[in-house]
Amino acid sequence: MAKLEKTNLSRRYFLQGGAAVGGTAALVGLGAHDASAQNAIQWNRAADIIIVGAGVSGLSAAVEAAEQGSSVIAIDMNYDIGGHGIMSGGQLHLGGGNEHQKAANVKDSPDSVFKDWTRHDHHAARYSDRDLVRVFADWNVDTYGWLLKQGVKYEPGMQQSAASTVPRQFRTVEWHIPSEVIAPRRNRNGSGLVRPLAASARAKGVEIVLNTRMTKIIREQPLSGRVLGVAAEGPNGPANYQARKGVIICTGGHSSNVTLRRTFDPRLTEEYQVACSTYSLQSGDGEIAAMDVGAALWATANQTAEAGTAVTKTRHIGCQWGYASLVYEPDSPLFPKARAMGLTVEDFQNVIMVKENGLRFVDETKGNYDFFAACMAWSGDPEKLNGGGPIWAVFDQNAANRERWKTEPPYVDLTGWFFKGDTLKELANNIAGPYQRRKMDPAVLEATVAKFNAAVDSGKDEFGRKAMNFKIDTPPFFAAWTTPILHDTLTGIHTNTNGQVVDRSGQAIAGLYCAGESMGGFAQHGLARCIIFGRVAARHASTGKSAVSASL
Ligand SMILES: Cc1cc2nc3c(=O)[nH]c(=O)nc-3n(C[C@H](O)[C@H](O)[C@H](O)COP(=O)(O)OP(=O)(O)OC[C@H]3O[C@@H](n4cnc5c(N)ncnc54)[C@H](O)[C@@H]3O)c2cc1C
Repeated sequence: MAKLEKTNLSRRYFLQGGAAVGGTAALVGLGAHDASAQNAIQWNRAADIIIVGAGVSGLSAAVEAAEQGSSVIAIDMNYDIGGHGIMSGGQLHLGGGNEHQKAANVKDSPDSVFKDWTRHDHHAARYSDRDLVRVFADWNVDTYGWLLKQGVKYEPGMQQSAASTVPRQFRTVEWHIPSEVIAPRRNRNGSGLVRPLAASARAKGVEIVLNTRMTKIIREQPLSGRVLGVAAEGPNGPANYQARKGVIICTGGHSSNVTLRRTFDPRLTEEYQVACSTYSLQSGDGEIAAMDVGAALWATANQTAEAGTAVTKTRHIGCQWGYASLVYEPDSPLFPKARAMGLTVEDFQNVIMVKENGLRFVDETKGNYDFFAACMAWSGDPEKLNGGGPIWAVFDQNAANRERWKTEPPYVDLTGWFFKGDTLKELANNIAGPYQRRKMDPAVLEATVAKFNAAVDSGKDEFGRKAMNFKIDTPPFFAAWTTPILHDTLTGIHTNTNGQVVDRSGQAIAGLYCAGESMGGFAQHGLARCIIFGRVAARHASTGKSAVSASL
């Protein structure tokens, strides 16, 4: 994916366009000495609570806030709701002794949830902020029932996963209208979470404003006072949204923002694509805007704890976004952007992986963090020392036959993500993807394949690969994009147990909240933590307790 387009984090307080709230510029929450012309803000829209991002955490916050009696406007930069959540598998990690667990005879309690997710012997739990985990644990059972009340349905059955020592994972039922699932027929069960939440929010009076990107958080003073609202860019130009009680940042993390993601892991250069970014971006906008008004980051070790799905192995090869379970079929509204479904790999012994230099570097059948480290290791390009460069799965026609692959569109993307050659030399000469910075040397690729074929004969592989049954010797030969794909944001903005954003001196910033993948401190994969902390933030914001200006 190309670098995320630069956000317009404008410093202007006077923004034009649209009808101002009350028809005139408003001087909001300012002491007399600060009510100068330069701090006058023209508000275009106002609500008790402004939510930025209508994905999993944003929609959960919206419903909760409406239930608490707040008026709510949620803005989202995408053309539809749901964020990553609509593409998710809908696997919910909720326990604590809920009805689903009782039906499956699973004994659990909030204390057990807390203990598991603060375990020192599990990398996904080790670096957690235990105050936040305590809140999460205590909201599990209530959230299970709350989702049912919003119209979310659950499939039977439970699994045990990650740091949990008892089964706590079960799936939502996929949304029943295929055209609203975005990637239909591919178990995108998270659609059955976000569609009912959006319907419930709208029924409760929440206004969801789409195609509108938050560009700035507006605070009384750049680094002091309360947060008053946000500036955004919509279809009709810029507009300011006033939040009488609070702004809740729910922008879903930072993995689509190359510069920000490299703050946590410098290896994550531009060639790494992000799962779901065909649909919605993990823009990093929330983190950047919050930091601009003084917010601190929190528990950043979680991003590189080498647990969970920060980085994942590409299973659908030969297309730009080949996440393990996400496939866009030609009737998906996203297909024109995705351009190909990818070839689904059943057995990785059917391919070798080479870097842009044509050299193998790893046992291709692995998929752990050592595998990813090898993928992201220096490829030898003297002008690109960070990142590992593109990785190509190289295979022959026999492998395609074994896998029953059709090496043509709509399965593969011929615009830079899949190449063919009648000889290995021709294949190497043809490879010219957007991130292939140097031409692959045909002699190197030929030598790599010859060495691999010799290892098949001897049974001894230089990378210790055991599955060595098939040579690469039958033309035509193919190269399919198989560079690892990014998935979860596991760190972000510091919040306290009310979801209030905390600044660099440890003080809550009045009127500013954060939830979901943009929030730091608790790195459990996915939906459950996003739902719960969205609710927590909305519940506290609705009290209005954070709407009081701190001293300026
Ligand atoms: C393919 C896939 C499968 C997954 N499967 C599972 C699963 O089975 N179980 C699980 O627990 N988790 C799963 N996840 C993870 C889960 O979907 C996410 O953790 C969750 O959706 C994050 O919620 P969020 O509210 O933080 O962000 P999102 O749901 O992504 O929502 C963020 C929203 O913010 C909007 N936004 C961003 N920047 C701005 C801006 N400047 N202005 C306005 N709007 C903005 C985006 O457009 C988006 O709609 C999966 C993720 C993917 C990609």
